[in-house]
Amino acid sequence: MTVLRSGLATDIGRARESNEDRAAASDTLFAVADGMGGARGGEVAARMAIETLQAAYERNPTIAGLREAFVAANGAIWEQSVRVDGLRGMGTTLTAAGLSVGADGRDVIGLANVGDSRAYLMSGGAIKQITADHSLAEERVRHGEMTEAEAEVHPHRHILTRALGVAPEVDIDLWELHLHTGDRLLLCSDGLTNEVNVEQIGQVLRSEHDPRKAARSLVDRANANGGSDNVTVVVVDILVGEEEPPRSSSVARVSLDEAGATRLEEPGPNPPVDRPAPAGPRTQPPVDEDATTITTVHRGLLPAVASPAADAGEELFVAAAPVAIQTISPPEYREPERERLTPVRETRRERRLRLGVPRRITVRVILFFLLILAVPAGAVAVVRWYAMDNWYVAIDHGNLAVYQGRPGGFLGIQPKLLDRTDVTTKEVLAFRLRDLRRTVTEPSLQAAERYIANLHREFVAQQNSTPLTRL
Ligand code: MN
Repeated sequence: MTVLRSGLATDIGRARESNEDRAAASDTLFAVADGMGGARGGEVAARMAIETLQAAYERNPTIAGLREAFVAANGAIWEQSVRVDGLRGMGTTLTAAGLSVGADGRDVIGLANVGDSRAYLMSGGAIKQITADHSLAEERVRHGEMTEAEAEVHPHRHILTRALGVAPEVDIDLWELHLHTGDRLLLCSDGLTNEVNVEQIGQVLRSEHDPRKAARSLVDRANANGGSDNVTVVVVDILVGEEEPPRSSSVARVSLDEAGATRLEEPGPNPPVDRPAPAGPRTQPPVDEDATTITTVHRGLLPAVASPAADAGEELFVAAAPVAIQTISPPEYREPERERLTPVRETRRERRLRLGVPRRITVRVILFFLLILAVPAGAVAVVRWYAMDNWYVAIDHGNLAVYQGRPGGFLGIQPKLLDRTDVTTKEVLAFRLRDLRRTVTEPSLQAAERYIANLHREFVAQQNSTPLTRL
């Protein structure tokens, strides 16, 4: 029986605009995908990889099923990238571990990898890298063309030689792990390993027992060290492992010869922990016998049924169906297809596709047109305001009246008759009529009405007092 407990943490990092990493951690399946591609391709590819993997592994939770799930995810992403213009060239890394039942009925953990997301095993306090990066720099290290130290700073360290979804077929690395109680598996995107070295990763895994806190702590460290990429970490604890023989944890990898026959490579000794051993693509790192062993199997074309390497006492997974998987042989490494960490410059067409047609009318466009309309509208408002911000008293058919506007109009805006009073021209003093004919301007309607009232009062006062004014 095996009991697992896991923790997952993912973060956008401190330099990127979106998180194109995706991850999963269920009871029995754990995965990290690091998407790549312009526009939203990276996110789409990583999400499709995780979703396809989960659905396929649920249908067939075996090591063969894990491989089939990778093939299915590769096909799904490839098809979508060919079909949708804006997603062309998208791809993703995928590193996944799934609990399943091995050939002898004992629990095993299948591990599969494509790309440069990594799996590490912490066993007995020692950490070692299980997966080999499918990056140009790492391939060169494996062929002895470059040292590990050179690779860490090499400009090609982020160029993938293998990724999921960039071709109709993909070569998948696969392992079978027999793990102990207390072992700890780490899956992570390169956002962690580019920022935090393996010694520091080992320290965190040794000191933080809660897998969720350990995952979080590793992500925090990556961000503290720069956070130049999205960072994703899944920590899987083997709370209870299969303890019967073999006593030591083991990791098996399978290979095929040119004729397509499967063979198990000699289980090599464990690499000194904390650092992947320098090795050719098919050689095993040196190990001490008692520690966890990792047997590596390199894969090419899978036969319908793999032949078990009985003498080694190891289980080989059995492929359910013959699937053509291309093996990249050392002299034929493909040149990099893209620089993963360089943001791909988006073309106008890609941007339009990403934004979709409705969003082409942006806020900026609307503001621009509003501004264009605002200029004449503002001018009209100013003219109207000037034309109407005036009141005057004039004579309308023998009565005194108040008008709003400019006498005679202004730029076609005619004055408006506001108040035709009961006061007639005969009820004001004659000399005032001269002023009225020239129009008398007042600052407001009230002032104009007050003026008329005063004229009338003046007239009445004259009527009642001195006859001298009645010329
Ligand atoms: Mn990354």
